[in-house]
Amino acid sequence: MAVEDSKVRVVVRVRPPTPRELESQRRPVVQVVDDQVLVFDPEEPNGGFLGLKWGSTHDGPKKKGKDLTFVFDRVFGETATQQDVFQHTTHSILDSFLQGYNCSVFAYGATGAGKTHTMLGREGDPGIMYLTTMELYRRLEAHQEEKRFEVLISYQEVYNEQIHDLLEPKGPLAIREDPDKGVVVQGLSFHQPTSAEQLLDMLTRGNRNRTQHPTDANATSSRSHAIFQIFVKQQDRVPGLTQALQVAKMSLIDLAGSERASSTHAKGERLREGANINRSLLALINVLNALADAKGRKSHVPYRDSKLTRLLKDSIGGNCRTVMIATVSPSSLAYEDTYNTLKYADRAKEI
Ligand code: ADP
Ligand code: MG
Repeated sequence: MAVEDSKVRVVVRVRPPTPRELESQRRPVVQVVDDQVLVFDPEEPNGGFLGLKWGSTHDGPKKKGKDLTFVFDRVFGETATQQDVFQHTTHSILDSFLQGYNCSVFAYGATGAGKTHTMLGREGDPGIMYLTTMELYRRLEAHQEEKRFEVLISYQEVYNEQIHDLLEPKGPLAIREDPDKGVVVQGLSFHQPTSAEQLLDMLTRGNRNRTQHPTDANATSSRSHAIFQIFVKQQDRVPGLTQALQVAKMSLIDLAGSERASSTHAKGERLREGANINRSLLALINVLNALADAKGRKSHVPYRDSKLTRLLKDSIGGNCRTVMIATVSPSSLAYEDTYNTLKYADRAKEI
């Protein structure tokens, strides 16, 4: 099946090891074979170049390795740039988006695996949210003559099963399903950044407004799902005729960490929060699994089980285009998380 026809594209991005991972003398557990194949926990991790900069690789009982080979639509190694990732993910669904299909791009993975780096990026190295919007502006500009366009941007988070506006923070917002407009978040602010600088400023400001709480597992753990949406309205410019208005939305989502809540020893307030994070993330996983099982057959897809899945009801499944970017650390320090993420990403290919 051609890439453009495929409804879910699953890619994996392996980030470079952090200084801590390099110092810890752990072995790498992910070997990128080529741009579609990777091996998890390879048989001979210190054979050849793999173990070179990692120092000693004798760090545990597992010497044989699971040696699991995975194939994805694309595999990005540690040297992949933001532009590389953009080119082989969102870029490939922009045509569909401009034809009116709703699209969604998820960054999935444990805390610290590289989700925010991929979606938001950092100063001087912006990620997919920025690159997608700029490319969209370029394309619309090129079709100004034939079409009238309006672009609106929103940025919100689902945290503790509540929706918050990240660009104009206020109380929690309610979701409504409108027969004409689809899913509507009441009171959500929409913006029209007119320059790259304005857009970057919005992304940074919005990210700063995300709810982040230190937990035992990781001091900068993010328990919120951040959802950046681009709405495009378009209408043919035909003199004397009123043309139908076409609307589509692209949702770019930096998901909360996929590590198990049980590993964070959460208590009290954090425990409830932990349960709720799982609610949205588990609901998303269940929705994607239901879509995979359905495979064209009519079956129940449990969109209503969480805020995140209600919010994205009209953006996953059906005619929508979806890209899942699974992010992983290369180090054995994150062995279980990486294994779980790859297994899940592998399952998502079946959708
Ligand atoms: P997450 O959002 O999944 O918790 P982050 O995106 O914050 O993880 O990444 C954790 C750390 O690794 C950050 O310091 C980030 O800058 C760095 N990092 C992640 N991915 C990459 C990458 N592809 N290249 C360079 N640094 C990265
Ligand atoms: Mg993050």
